[in-house]
Amino acid sequence: MANEKNIAGNSSAYLLLKTSEPLSAGSGFSYVCAGCAECCRNKRIPVYPFDVLRLARFLALGTGEFLAKFVEPADALLKHEKAGGCIFLEGTKCGVYEFRPLVCRLYPLRRHSSRERGEIYALAEPEPETKGRYGTAGSVSSFIKSGKADGLLSQVDRCLAARQCGGEPGGIKHLDVDRICRKHGTPIDGFALEAWESAMEVYYAACREETD
Ligand code: SF4
Repeated sequence: MANEKNIAGNSSAYLLLKTSEPLSAGSGFSYVCAGCAECCRNKRIPVYPFDVLRLARFLALGTGEFLAKFVEPADALLKHEKAGGCIFLEGTKCGVYEFRPLVCRLYPLRRHSSRERGEIYALAEPEPETKGRYGTAGSVSSFIKSGKADGLLSQVDRCLAARQCGGEPGGIKHLDVDRICRKHGTPIDGFALEAWESAMEVYYAACREETD
């Protein structure tokens, strides 16, 4: 149950959406960010290999350097500052906004995908002090498109399948895209950031090599 102090979590739109879970791509949904950055504090932000590759290159780093600086090795989550803010939070702004991870683009939705149930969505618990506004005027799919998350979602399933190929179990080793590609003789050191999808193809092929 949402925190008593949580205005957004007690709104009629939120409560209606909550009783409608699970949501599908066509479900009525909207969310207007108020820029309070409450959702960027004390949060578990996991990163996928494509997040790591995109963020690393945006910051002009290799993926190994990026992981060492910004990702907790034990659980593959973005590091926090001492006060609890995400390591990329600058005041109330995201310092890597154009390349922020997929989970940040989907918030306040969570995606669940399985063979049995297909693709479904649920609501993340609202932050106690958030000023974001829930509604039902749009749709889940239009919200996803507006956050430019749609192009990344198909990559999630490919990443999960690639990891299941084996060879890189546990920890954050599977996130070091550069290391895996180099290991298989297909380095992706130099590429334009716009070509990240092509670079990920090289990564998937390298992951498949792990099983040979
Ligand atoms: S990466 Fe950006 S949007 Fe995501 S939690 Fe950190 S500061 Fe917020």
